[in-house]
Amino acid sequence: MMAEIEFEQETCRCGLTFMLPSEFVRHRRKDHEWFYCPSCNRAWRYGRDNEEEKLKKEVLRLKGSRDFYKGARERESKRLEHEIRVRTGHQGHAAKLKKQLDIQPEEIK
Ligand SMILES: [Zn+2]
Repeated sequence: MMAEIEFEQETCRCGLTFMLPSEFVRHRRKDHEWFYCPSCNRAWRYGRDNEEEKLKKEVLRLKGSRDFYKGARERESKRLEHEIRVRTGHQGHAAKLKKQLDIQPEEIK
C-alpha cells in the first residue's frame, strides 16, 4: 500500500500553477529557504510571518495585554481597598464625634 501524499497548489507570477508536497511546504514555511518555479526558475520563499510565527506573535501580544490588564486590575483593587480603609476611618471618626456631641449636652447640665 502506498502512502498518500498531500499537495498544495501555488501559482507563480509567470502564470504556472504547480503542486508542491504539503510536507515540503511545511518545511519551507518553517525554514524560509528558497525554492524555484519549475517553469521560469523564479526564486520563491515563504515570508517570515508564516502561520506559526503569526500565532506566536499573537500569543505574545495577548500575554502582554493580559499582564497589562492584570496589573491595572491589581492597582485598582489596591486603590479600592485604600478608599474603603479611608472611608471606614472617616465613619469611625464621625461616629466618635457624634457620640461626643450626644454626650456633651448632658454633661453641660
Ligand atoms: Zn514561474
